[in-house]
Amino acid sequence: MIDNQTFMLAIGVGNIAFGLLMAGYMRNADNSTALRFWMWARLVGGFGEICWWATPALALPWMEAFTPFAWVGGVLLEVAAYCLFFNACDWRRVVYPSALVSAVVLTVALAMDVSRQHMIWIVSSIIALFATGGAFVLLSERKAPLLQRIIGLNNAMFALAIWAWLIFEQGRIDAAITPLGGLAYLFSYLMMIVDGFGFLLLCKQKDDAQMQRLATIDGLTDTLNRRAFFERADSARMLALRMRKPIALMMLDLDHFKRLNDGFGHACGDEALRVFADTARGVLRDHDLLGRLGGEEFALALPGTGLDGAIQAAERLRIAVAEAPLLSCAGSYRMTVSIGLVMIEPNEALTAALARADHALYVAKSGGRNRVELDSAVLKRA
Ligand code: GH3
Ligand code: MG
Ligand code: MG
Repeated sequence: MIDNQTFMLAIGVGNIAFGLLMAGYMRNADNSTALRFWMWARLVGGFGEICWWATPALALPWMEAFTPFAWVGGVLLEVAAYCLFFNACDWRRVVYPSALVSAVVLTVALAMDVSRQHMIWIVSSIIALFATGGAFVLLSERKAPLLQRIIGLNNAMFALAIWAWLIFEQGRIDAAITPLGGLAYLFSYLMMIVDGFGFLLLCKQKDDAQMQRLATIDGLTDTLNRRAFFERADSARMLALRMRKPIALMMLDLDHFKRLNDGFGHACGDEALRVFADTARGVLRDHDLLGRLGGEEFALALPGTGLDGAIQAAERLRIAVAEAPLLSCAGSYRMTVSIGLVMIEPNEALTAALARADHALYVAKSGGRNRVELDSAVLKRA
């Protein structure tokens, strides 16, 4: 069975290795404050554990005194990292008071010259308190991703093991390891690994989501960008074909947009584009696909919607845009949109259907704007 000293060495080396890896990674990357806190948490905590391991051999009083502060400091740095990462709280409001209270408790304990055993008990209690709080925060979010739940569960198991060891075995660190002590060691070790990798994976997950967003979403209007619209609309087209369901497609273009830009400035044009996108989202269903193809030109795919439903949706959208709240930058200017509508034929390519919708849009423009026009093929069949 592993003894307390060996355990401290193993966990200390592990934490320092994580911290050094992180320092190497952060040298060449654009990193967040959360990551920096997390790296320091590992280094400071790991250093504390190595000091604890080395104290009996080196017999340096400052080392003995430093260790509890390093442990608690490491945990507080980790709390700050999680606060920042999850945007859950202002880290200063959590960490500063906790640091103050912990520092007072540890200083008093040192002044009273408590035994190593008692010091372990005090430090472990503080750490278990933070682990309990951490588990609560991580697990209480209803829609937390699986990765976050795994880390939260690990925190909870760690906290439980430490509390059981503190309450039923008074946190004993005898040469012969106690059963609950063994469990506490095991979960402390797991905590180092799961929290270590877990935090990095959480960061990666967040970065991946951000990259995905940047690659697919138009920054101004929050609608799909051109490439993402073509990809998703084509998938929807193929699915509709397989399921023998209809799929409607529209081209939309804001009317006299150049006048708005020229009369009230480019920023005002941008506001109009955002208002248009918000208005469209307000009247569309969740699985309808709205994409900005460029400038003030949008495309809209309505999977599973037949001709009648699509005409209704287009009219609803046209009216909603005409009745949208006035722009803050353009006085009494009223925005309107022209819409060209087609039903995608079975086996018709998306680009061919879009060309037909574009032609219908052209007819809507020449017919006076602020109107919906159907493709002539649809009209013939109707
Ligand atoms: P029509 O009713 O025939 O559609 O006339 P229009 O003025 O809307 O059409 P036109 O295509 O001539 O004008 C589009 C304008 O959109 C020209 C361009 O300066 C502007 N534009 C393109 N992209 C953006 C953008 O991201 N923001 C802003 N504010 N304007 C843009
Ligand atoms: Mg236009
Ligand atoms: Mg245009």
